[in-house]
Amino acid sequence: MSKTALALLNRPSADTPPHNPGAPDYELVDPQVPHLSVLDLAATRGDGIFEALGVTSGHPHSLDAHLRRFASSAAKLDLPAPDEKAWRSAIGAVIAELGDTTDALIKLVMTRGVEGDPEARPTGWVYGWPGADHAAARTNGIAVITLDRGYRHDVEQTSPWLLAGAKTLSYAVNRAVLREAARRGADDVIFVSSDGFVLEGPTSSVLFRRGNTLLTPGTGLGILDGTTQGDLFDWAQSQGMQTGFEQLTPSDLGRTDALWLVSSGRQAAPIRVFDGLPHEIDHELSAAMNAYLLGRKT
Ligand code: PLP
Repeated sequence: MSKTALALLNRPSADTPPHNPGAPDYELVDPQVPHLSVLDLAATRGDGIFEALGVTSGHPHSLDAHLRRFASSAAKLDLPAPDEKAWRSAIGAVIAELGDTTDALIKLVMTRGVEGDPEARPTGWVYGWPGADHAAARTNGIAVITLDRGYRHDVEQTSPWLLAGAKTLSYAVNRAVLREAARRGADDVIFVSSDGFVLEGPTSSVLFRRGNTLLTPGTGLGILDGTTQGDLFDWAQSQGMQTGFEQLTPSDLGRTDALWLVSSGRQAAPIRVFDGLPHEIDHELSAAMNAYLLGRKT
């Protein structure tokens, strides 16, 4: 069995009481035995938030940005604010426990807690495991189809209760679209708003190149603020490229010079087939992006 590690948070938020008064911030426990109540609202209602981040040789990628998005998701769900110090110590302990695993992933989960708990304490844990091997996707590229998400591009402003733009535990739809992609012979999906704008992948941000400019559909579209996209923009600027945001349609996207889905686990996967049509891969830029992403020390 590959090495995994699990830390349970004693007090995921400083705004709610601890689970064990007087105990440390977290406890490292055996990941192979159950720890979650069947009444936890994560299990019964998918009510909670998460983050997933890559770790290379002990260095978590973009930890500050992931913790910022975790706090922003909590606020969008009216959950108590995560206690950053406690989460950072639990993350450090899980990474140390994973030892010399070259490529690992860690997941932070905070749920609304156990149904009926009079103290309404969130449940929180950090789980780490060796990442999958995405080398083929990074080099050879992936086939992607567009699918309708069913919401307008401005859903985050018109209907914030739909929680667009928050990283919630309710990812059944994000998994269902991958099964639909497989049925249509594709590897992944780009969601499109009901009024026809490109949004994001089910677990990734969309990136495209036009000339010397690297672009993404932008924020405020009910999509996640991608940490990988953010880091790639900083890197591209340091390489003399321009960066920008552009709201566009799938047919505009099909006409760009190169396309990627980017995310914390797989990093930059170039798109070689877009909605059934071959798309040129920028091998040089893809390799440079992945070398930068995998070499990040923060
Ligand atoms: N959009 C969605 C819906 C995601 O689930 C993810 C990551 O899982 C992303 C975008 C990309 O975010 P990041 O680069 O921080 O992994």
